[in-house]
Amino acid sequence: MGKLDGRVVVITGAARGQGEQEARLFVAEGARVVLADVRDEEAAAVARELGKDAALPVHLDVSQEADWAAAVAAAKDTFGKIDGLVNNAGILRFNELVNTPLEEFQQVVQVNQVGTFLGIRTVAPEIEAAGGGTIVNTSSYTGLTGMAYVGAYAATKHAVLGLTRVAAVELAAKGIRVNALCPGAIDTPMTNPAVLDPTADPEASAAGVAELYKRLVPLGRIGRPEEVAALALFLTSQDSSYITGQPFVVDGGWLAGVGLA
Ligand code: NAD
Repeated sequence: MGKLDGRVVVITGAARGQGEQEARLFVAEGARVVLADVRDEEAAAVARELGKDAALPVHLDVSQEADWAAAVAAAKDTFGKIDGLVNNAGILRFNELVNTPLEEFQQVVQVNQVGTFLGIRTVAPEIEAAGGGTIVNTSSYTGLTGMAYVGAYAATKHAVLGLTRVAAVELAAKGIRVNALCPGAIDTPMTNPAVLDPTADPEASAAGVAELYKRLVPLGRIGRPEEVAALALFLTSQDSSYITGQPFVVDGGWLAGVGLA
């Protein structure tokens, strides 16, 4: 018996990274999943692997209201209901606050913060209609503390925690629990040095990243997306039945304090 038998969960940003691992783990635990992303080909490839009885790829730009309505309609058409949501899609931009163009700041807000709001607003009534369920939002280490050069991103991740708390309070009576993930540094394309700086030597960059996290993180390494997915599963399953409105840190101890090594 799986921990998510009979559940139907929409996962945004599921084409790669943490969202992809969440989708794979949720299906392994018996759920049917909707892989919602702007990377249509990658989402379709993951869905093919998981099988059409278990996974439906849908095009969804989380910042677009009309896309949400269409994605929910497609999900219900295929699986009959929705009783879970993982708001995982997000983008990261590096800039000093004083040099951040307004357009860049607004772009990050539109995806990370407005996208999460639209997800809650669109999907919560569906979860209620299905008899209750769960919403897991994706905040960050930087939703709980500051970090240089990620001002727009940190602002949105703090906002996601505010949305999580308010949604938890408002939706509790409707049988919907709402919690948030706060990952530290996780090894995904978002943090891949080759993506962040295409001019860098990939091998030297990877070694540099490994060395950086060995020093910064008490557990001595960057996290794996599977380790975030395990927490998303806990918050989506009945194992967390008495928990709502909380941020959960998965960061190898980074927020607890810097390591000495
Ligand atoms: P990733 O870049 O590997 O994957 C993000 C996915 O979101 C991609 O498939 C991308 O296409 C999708 N996406 C981006 N914009 C979208 C949009 N407008 N609509 C729909 N989909 C969109 O990143 P990841 O590391 O897997 O990050 C997943 C989440 O975890 C994000 O919210 C991120 O902010 C958060 N997070 C990541 C880390 C980390 O170290 N990787 C740390 C803390 C929090």
